[in-house]
Amino acid sequence: MSRVAVVTGGGSGMGESTCHELGRRGHKVAVLDLDEAAAQRVADDLRADGVTAVGIGADVTDRQVMADSFATVRSELGPTTILVTSAGLFGFSPFVDLRIEDWERVIAVNLTGTFHACQLAVPDMLDAGWGRIIMISSSSAQRGSPEMAHYAASKGGVVSLTRSLAREYAPHGITVNNIPPSGIETPMQHQQQAAGILPPTEQMAANIPIGHLGTGDDIAAMVGFLSSDEAGFITGQTIGVNGGAVM
Ligand code: NAD
Repeated sequence: MSRVAVVTGGGSGMGESTCHELGRRGHKVAVLDLDEAAAQRVADDLRADGVTAVGIGADVTDRQVMADSFATVRSELGPTTILVTSAGLFGFSPFVDLRIEDWERVIAVNLTGTFHACQLAVPDMLDAGWGRIIMISSSSAQRGSPEMAHYAASKGGVVSLTRSLAREYAPHGITVNNIPPSGIETPMQHQQQAAGILPPTEQMAANIPIGHLGTGDDIAAMVGFLSSDEAGFITGQTIGVNGGAVM
């Protein structure tokens, strides 16, 4: 069955891979990203593959812009019944030096931005009596990350948001899960390596039992499954896709 999917952060990395996976599954896809050109590029690529798609430039932290974006999706594609929140902002600072503005921005993008997207999508899902929400969290929420307190705290909030929404909406046919990635090769990871925050790829791979890093397609495959009818008995879960790096 063809449904309407919104992917925040769909202009890059695992969000982009997810847009293509959902398109391959026959869904209409709204690519939402702060980088409007990237959102349009991904939407163009999807259309070239025969997928009905729109690209939307939007900052997930801006409630009005997000409300307008979901209204655009509703008028151009239809009501949203699949939501994937992949928009994310990385942060790195020793805890005592962490500036309040950096704390607030990371929380705003990763947690409050996820809240806005969920709150704007759920009414359509309630109307449909069916919905799938898949949030991208982080392994940092599972094991903690030194010098990334704001990032890990924001992602821990995403894990708790998952559990609460799952219990609230389970009676309405809406499932809510999150995927905490670790070691996925994306532009974000390459930026962290270039800044010396993450070690080189070979060194990272040595700490992953499967022996190599993952790709956006590895995450997209799990998103695809969790968005399907077959995954209807899975909700409130944190499902790692990490090569065995976090057990
Ligand atoms: P990426 O940088 O390739 O993609 C993130 C996208 O989010 C970008 O297109 C960016 O423009 C968009 N974005 C950032 N701020 C936004 C905002 N305010 N509004 C709308 N869009 C915004 O990175 P990625 O690695 O694909 O990351 C996707 C998600 O996975 C993020 O939430 C990230 O925290 C999480 N994550 C990634 C890894 C990894 O190994 N790459 C590990 C753990 C968690």
